[in-house]
Amino acid sequence: MIELKNVTKTYKMGEETIYALKNVNLKIKKGEFVSIMGPSGSGKSTMLNIIGCLDKPTEGEVYIDNILINKLDDDELTKIRRDKIGFVFQQFNLIPVLTALENVELPLIFKYRNSMSKEERKKRALECLKMAELDERFANHRPNQLSGGQQQRVAIARALANNPPIILADEPTGALDSKTGEKIMKLLKKLNESGKTIVVVTHDINVAKFGDRIIYLKDGEIEKEEYLK
Ligand code: ADP
Repeated sequence: MIELKNVTKTYKMGEETIYALKNVNLKIKKGEFVSIMGPSGSGKSTMLNIIGCLDKPTEGEVYIDNILINKLDDDELTKIRRDKIGFVFQQFNLIPVLTALENVELPLIFKYRNSMSKEERKKRALECLKMAELDERFANHRPNQLSGGQQQRVAIARALANNPPIILADEPTGALDSKTGEKIMKLLKKLNESGKTIVVVTHDINVAKFGDRIIYLKDGEIEKEEYLK
């Protein structure tokens, strides 16, 4: 589902070249749940950005769902992101003036414009809120009327809207207390069991343990991998 082949990412800082990723090889199968761990600066965000087609490697090849993304232009990358990947962030990144339901409807508006009726769109958004286990009575609440855990459920529902095969989550529990964080991880696990391929970046070993495999990054390289099942 996801493959990085000899991927290197460098940044130029004046005279210096910083290697954010060094010759990384990684395959993630369809339906796998992978956690990426490592200290600050080890390349976790860079790796997630490259998998998420938000950034391209300096060298090497990246395949998403068997599509080589290196040569795609910005419009094509946008389409891959829209159709193949749902993003979940630490700070939820919901639009504050929109209700929970409207936040989930947004990706559907971008994808379908006027080819999906309002009723259909609302129905799909409600289905996604249900999959994210947010009670329907919160659908018309705005983010500031919801708890952190509820906001993350809305963000997960939004990530599910276009039914992408892959969910990428960057520190999804980082802004939550441990009990709420655990509930969010259980939800991600459930989505994984329903067939989604999931990649989570985290500092927290208790979060990483929800994965089938933990990849440890150090100085831009895969230091070790641990299989949990
Ligand atoms: P992590 O997510 O594990 O903290 P990052 O992927 O953010 O690590 O960063 C890896 C390395 O690349 C760090 O040394 C960081 O300073 C550097 N880096 C990341 N993004 C940039 C950038 N846009 N410009 C310059 N250096 C960067």
